[in-house]
Amino acid sequence: MSIDRNKGENMNIIVCMKQVPDTTDVKIDPKTGTLIREGVPSIVNPDDKHAIEESLRLKEKFGGTVTVVSMGPPQAIDALKEVYAMGVDDTILLSDRAFAGADTWATSYTLGMGIKALGEYDLIFCGLQAIDGDTAQIGPQLAEFLDIPQVTYVKKVNIEGNELTVVRALEDGHMTVKVPMPALLTAVKELNRPRYPTMGGIIKAYREHETKVWSASDIEAEPANIGLEGSPTQVKRTFAPEPRGKVEIIEGDSAAEMVSGLVDKLKEKNVVR
Ligand SMILES: Cc1cc2nc3c(=O)[nH]c(=O)nc-3n(C[C@H](O)[C@H](O)[C@H](O)COP(=O)(O)OP(=O)(O)OC[C@H]3O[C@@H](n4cnc5c(N)ncnc54)[C@H](O)[C@@H]3O)c2cc1C
Repeated sequence: MSIDRNKGENMNIIVCMKQVPDTTDVKIDPKTGTLIREGVPSIVNPDDKHAIEESLRLKEKFGGTVTVVSMGPPQAIDALKEVYAMGVDDTILLSDRAFAGADTWATSYTLGMGIKALGEYDLIFCGLQAIDGDTAQIGPQLAEFLDIPQVTYVKKVNIEGNELTVVRALEDGHMTVKVPMPALLTAVKELNRPRYPTMGGIIKAYREHETKVWSASDIEAEPANIGLEGSPTQVKRTFAPEPRGKVEIIEGDSAAEMVSGLVDKLKEKNVVR
């Protein structure tokens, strides 16, 4: 299951990619409290693009393959075609009606079973978090399920032999960690600048490449562990929080006038003298 880079062995890298609604456009239905997804374009989760870019750079440096796995409805194939056009070697969609209603536990289980069905790997890359669900739970849960070490918030990766040296982004600095492979990393946006899909890649993605679509039985997933049935999370209520406090906009013809208006307000409230 592990490689030795000192012996020049190739790396098998798997990236987990989620197709998400472009949340800058998403609105909440005030009556139901759910996201209005109709007419909202779907995109590749931004952090996942950084995970893919880094995997492609590692492959270019050390040789090997990059396989992208996604769990989602059939339309997630569009996102998989987009990342195929960036240069990945293969794409797998885990799609089955039985996966619907999965919480993060059931999602991690399903991705884990899909990854086990793929065979040997050296590195699994996830994004730090998805911009819709936003829990940042999948990477750590998946590593636990596969029983491999994990490093989150990764902003730099180096490989020596069978060991990764990764730099984690922290709020007030950074942390360098050494970890043996196979391991799971979660990517933050500081890691790199993702490449664009190439024109040749797009043509190949739509004319030649076929995403493999695997059902629950293809990955030998236990029905009791997938979808709503396999999800221990129960959502009691969803709601948009009430706006807190009042906003006052201080207007003026120049910056000096606006600053002077702000100082007057602060004096009125005894914040400054
Ligand atoms: C009770 C319940 C029911 C739900 N029902 C549904 C439903 O029917 N349909 C639905 O779409 N969502 C559903 N969800 C949301 C779904 O559980 C989460 O979107 C999913 O588990 C991922 O969590 P996240 O979005 O917080 O991802 P994060 O943990 O924030 O994602 C981190 C990283 O994990 C990887 N990742 C996350 N999700 C996937 C994926 N699907 N495929 C590949 N890689 C992934 C990506 O690399 C991503 O960057 C439900 C949630 C709950 C609690």
